Amino acid sequence: MTDFTIEGKIYHNGTFEHACLSIKQGKIVAIKKTLKSDTHLNVGTNLILPAGIDLHVHFRDPGFTQKEDFLTGSTAAAFGGISCICDMPNTQPQTTSTQTLKEKLQLASQKSYVDFGLFAGINDENIGRLSEFSSLCAGYKIFLGSSTHSLHLSPQNLRVALVETNRTKKLTLLHAEDEHCLKQHQDHEHSLIDHLRCRSAECEETAVQMILQNTHDLTSLIHICHLSSCEGFEVLRKRPHNVSVGVTPHHLFFDVQTIDKNQPFYKVNPPIRSSFDKETLWYGVNNHFIDIVESDHAPHTLDEKTVDFDNAPSGMPGVETLYPLLLMAMKKDLLSLDTLLSLLCEKPAQLLHLPKGKIEVGWDADFIVVDLKKIQPIVADQLHSKCGWTAYEGFPAMFPSMVFIRGEKVIEDNQILIKKGFGTSVGG
Ligand SMILES: [Zn+2]
Repeated sequence: MTDFTIEGKIYHNGTFEHACLSIKQGKIVAIKKTLKSDTHLNVGTNLILPAGIDLHVHFRDPGFTQKEDFLTGSTAAAFGGISCICDMPNTQPQTTSTQTLKEKLQLASQKSYVDFGLFAGINDENIGRLSEFSSLCAGYKIFLGSSTHSLHLSPQNLRVALVETNRTKKLTLLHAEDEHCLKQHQDHEHSLIDHLRCRSAECEETAVQMILQNTHDLTSLIHICHLSSCEGFEVLRKRPHNVSVGVTPHHLFFDVQTIDKNQPFYKVNPPIRSSFDKETLWYGVNNHFIDIVESDHAPHTLDEKTVDFDNAPSGMPGVETLYPLLLMAMKKDLLSLDTLLSLLCEKPAQLLHLPKGKIEVGWDADFIVVDLKKIQPIVADQLHSKCGWTAYEGFPAMFPSMVFIRGEKVIEDNQILIKKGFGTSVGG
């Protein structure tokens, strides 16, 4: 790792300024108008922005590596300007014990290009033993409703689980769909309309209410993943400040009125809902209600997704297109750069207590170089997930031309410049 200086248009303290960063041992050690060093990189009028952090990905490793693995998933993350990901526990075996966390940590350490945190799953069997493996994970994940390959915690065990994670002081992520409600509405699904009816907003609302009832006196950080409905939004208006809320790009960019209702590519959990729900989420983004954007990158192979609607698994890829789509949304004035950087960089770093997500002295030198005039369409063939497809085919986006992680140039000119295994664990 060489020390260097980089000069360009830097976004710092809420404004753009032409300035230089000095990078030593992977950290930003100075930000000044002019700085000199033996290795000086001038990126001209290009922007230097903090790299993104994706708190919610499914890299499918181990167990479902026909869909993705840490090598391909982290390649996709790096090309998309993401320096750190958090992997969810619904792999095979599920990451619910010391043993399985250690095994996954080893896989990720050998293969990942980007930094990573692992989330441990909580089910009815392992509550009571959660603190045993808290040093191995970045936090815990609870699925209140079942989803593709998910694990399940019964509602009567939610309180015990949350009291236990509160003791570990770790972040707890929740998939908020109520299982009882999902079961009540379960039916054969022919299209997205059926999927929407079977996983109604009521199921999200019930789960969110249950979470708030069980966390009112707890102090550790609780995060509601992928909010999707107005109903869920309303309940969360009165949430305490240790409860944060995330939204996915697919719930921001798609609604059932305007997409092909028979296309299983769009089958995700919770479902893509109405334009009214979508507008509510944008309102939340622009009014400091939504804390983070998370991709919920959930790849499945084309073969798995191109079957009849009912048999198609839920989930779509998204880690590589997350930042490029949001930069494009900023260009279209859908959100400000301040909001974008808070959602994708600063807040996720805060939730994980990481010195990342900001161009700041003392912080990790994780940043991207991007030219806001260089807009290109998203093309599945040019993306790096193993699954080989995207629901955003043809969408205009802005991909970074360079990506740095802990002071190391990871991406330049569509090439990956580091060895696999460069990524390190941020958990524990
Ligand atoms: Zn997920």
